[in-house]
Amino acid sequence: MPHLQIIVVGAGLSGLSTAIACTISGHSVTVIESASELQEVGAGLQVTPNATRLLKKWDLPASFWATAAEPTFLAVHRYSDGKVLAMEKDFNTKIRDKYGASFLDFHRVDLQLALYQRALALGVKFELGQRVQSIDFDLPQVTTASGAKFSSDLIVAADGLWSQSRNCFLDVKDAPLPTGDLAYRVVLSLDDIEDPELREWVSNPSVHFWIGPGAHAVGYSVRAGKMYNIVLLVPDDPPEGVSRQSGSVEEMKVLFKDWDPILTRFLNIVQTVDKWKLMHRSELDSWINDKSTFVMVGDACHPMLPYLAQGANSALEDGAVLGHLLGKVKTRSQVPRALKLYEQLRKTRGEAVVRETFKQRESFHMPNGPDQEARDELFLSQLETGLTGEPFPSRWTCPQVQPWLYSYDAYEEAEKAWTSGSNAEVL
Ligand SMILES: Cc1cc2nc3c(=O)[nH]c(=O)nc-3n(C[C@H](O)[C@H](O)[C@H](O)COP(=O)(O)OP(=O)(O)OC[C@H]3O[C@@H](n4cnc5c(N)ncnc54)[C@H](O)[C@@H]3O)c2cc1C
Repeated sequence: MPHLQIIVVGAGLSGLSTAIACTISGHSVTVIESASELQEVGAGLQVTPNATRLLKKWDLPASFWATAAEPTFLAVHRYSDGKVLAMEKDFNTKIRDKYGASFLDFHRVDLQLALYQRALALGVKFELGQRVQSIDFDLPQVTTASGAKFSSDLIVAADGLWSQSRNCFLDVKDAPLPTGDLAYRVVLSLDDIEDPELREWVSNPSVHFWIGPGAHAVGYSVRAGKMYNIVLLVPDDPPEGVSRQSGSVEEMKVLFKDWDPILTRFLNIVQTVDKWKLMHRSELDSWINDKSTFVMVGDACHPMLPYLAQGANSALEDGAVLGHLLGKVKTRSQVPRALKLYEQLRKTRGEAVVRETFKQRESFHMPNGPDQEARDELFLSQLETGLTGEPFPSRWTCPQVQPWLYSYDAYEEAEKAWTSGSNAEVL
């Protein structure tokens, strides 16, 4: 088996998962990261079974798993009065039974640091404080802003939404596109909450959506029920070119003042809030180059609305599939096949998930009126009976979408694709 030298640009979740999976497959990885220390912006992250099964495989430590909050139910509320439109009870056990893996809510920092420590333990090298500026696809080699050069057999672009690697690949500055929505992100500590009912919500993990015209809110516990994460999704207003800024707590409260009182009680405790512009990208023709020296993963190639919480989960899947396929190559001449299979598997799925996130926005953000009433009737018709199997407006429990999202086993898919004769045409 050839021992490849792989450069991963970016130490976000896609870069770290790629580094871990490629190293487990026997290759040497150097991660080049522009930040001088790995301190991800703190907020919650829903990690669904398609990704928790990967984290198990990568043997993350017990201390990491202890930070998880596992929701026992998932509820969808009408925005104005909190009326329950949908309720999935025993969510945790149903998910485990169906998918053989858990649905867990984490603090993003805990996941990133656990992956970083795992990567270090496996021997991945990190070059922190180095911003990749240009790429020579023939050598292949990256050059950073400091002038340092790093050569390898393969370059993996994992540099996120504003990917410079993508610009180099396309040879044009290709800016992300606004989705028309922004997110206010709030994290509350249980220590700062006095209201007994709110403390109860935080200590007993569950997931809540409040859906209203043009907007929705999501709340869930993280850090084993010691913190509460709230994301408020509303139409976009930051100035052009600004992707993230401190939000005004007052402005946020005004937007949600007529919403369910339990949500506004949470918002009344908020001291600081971050505001994120939600961006997407047009689909690319290809995620790999002709010479098979370059490949893209994560938000660099398929950023999405966070409405199904799949951005990071998909990024982890990308890393697993790429790493496993590169572990299959017996000669260097098979690297192009591994990359082509990666692209086939991941581009189809990644882009399909992106499209599904827009459909979820449509279902959640319906303006008040006949369509919204029909949607709520459909929700309510299955509140007592349970889900009937037909398409459901919340894809989080939809019997047609949820299995497609959560049953995906990245290692199994990669293995099948590599061994399947039907893929011989990509050779
Ligand atoms: C409000 C909100 C809520 C979300 N909630 C969820 C959720 O619950 N579940 C979920 O799965 N996803 C969620 N997501 C999406 C998820 O955060 C992203 O999809 C995921 O983090 C993308 O990971 P990445 O590694 O591709 O990119 P990033 O996390 O952006 O990492 C890119 C890395 O590359 C580095 N970098 C950038 N440029 C360079 C350069 N030129 N040279 C070197 N390094 C560079 C950056 O510093 C960074 O460390 C959410 C997103 C938002 C906005």
